[in-house]
Amino acid sequence: MEDVERVKAEALQIMGVFQVLPRLIVFDLDQTLWPFYCECRSKRDTPSLFPQTRGILHALKHQRVDVAIASKSPTPDIATTFLDKLSIRSMFVAEEIFYSWTHKTDHFQRIHSKTGVPYNSMLFFDDDNNNIKERQSQISKVGVTSILVGNGVNLGAFRDGLTKFSQNSKASKNKQKRPK
Ligand SMILES: [Mg+2]
Repeated sequence: MEDVERVKAEALQIMGVFQVLPRLIVFDLDQTLWPFYCECRSKRDTPSLFPQTRGILHALKHQRVDVAIASKSPTPDIATTFLDKLSIRSMFVAEEIFYSWTHKTDHFQRIHSKTGVPYNSMLFFDDDNNNIKERQSQISKVGVTSILVGNGVNLGAFRDGLTKFSQNSKASKNKQKRPK
């Protein structure tokens, strides 16, 4: 496990570069926050996060950026047990963990109605390209920025996500400014 404080400091430095930050960052769980699938594990196990994930969560808390969970895990009881064991459960303002046939559109509707945060102020990290692609095509109009993670939430993915979010918000501002 990497040093949490060092990763937190680096994450804060990355955040400092951007003029606009998301109001809410939504995370998938399996293969995004932690390197396994809950349904293949037992509640008795001791879970661990990806090495840089905790430092990034602490940096977000420090900067008062809210965090939420959107997971399609078929075993929400194991997922919540693991969140408790990792002592991170209380950090999340919304925890949507349920199986669904949709590409998490219903997860996002619930998160939106619980938090009141506009979709275009949300950034979403997921390792499943189906959820990302689907969101871009079907829900692009609602404006959630999505980032595909290949090796969990780490500083590289974090920087990529914030970059894409800031590009999207600039683009939508320019659209508003453009005369009819
Ligand atoms: Mg996943």
